[in-house]
Amino acid sequence: MDTVFTKIINRELPAKIIYEDDQILAFHDNAPQAPVHFLVIPKKPIRTLNDLTEDDKAVAGHMLFTAQRLATELGCKAGFRVVMNCNELGGQTVYHIHMHVLGQRQMHWPPG
Ligand code: 5GP
Repeated sequence: MDTVFTKIINRELPAKIIYEDDQILAFHDNAPQAPVHFLVIPKKPIRTLNDLTEDDKAVAGHMLFTAQRLATELGCKAGFRVVMNCNELGGQTVYHIHMHVLGQRQMHWPPG
């Protein structure tokens, strides 16, 4: 079963895409929780962080570095938050791994 993120990768669903290459895609979240809220996903449909393998280490690093670069480009260098939810207990709702990048508001701890 394709998730909405596979449909976004395949252009079957619209999204505000910020960055794309052969391995990853970044686009704005459609229910933003901060003035800047975008998602970075691998094109490979990995269901959860528990499903990451040794082979995925390079793409995971590429996602993190891209998150940092895009956060700076979108005006968040002063501070931002990166979140990855894993499984229902971790608050995951879309089963294709993704990094949330949130910025331009004060973040608090602990998260809900
Ligand atoms: P999760 O709860 O799995 O960590 O985060 C899933 C995120 O995907 C949520 O923040 C949600 O707003 C976002 N999302 C779900 N469906 C869509 C969609 O069709 N388009 C976009 N741009 N974001 C989506």
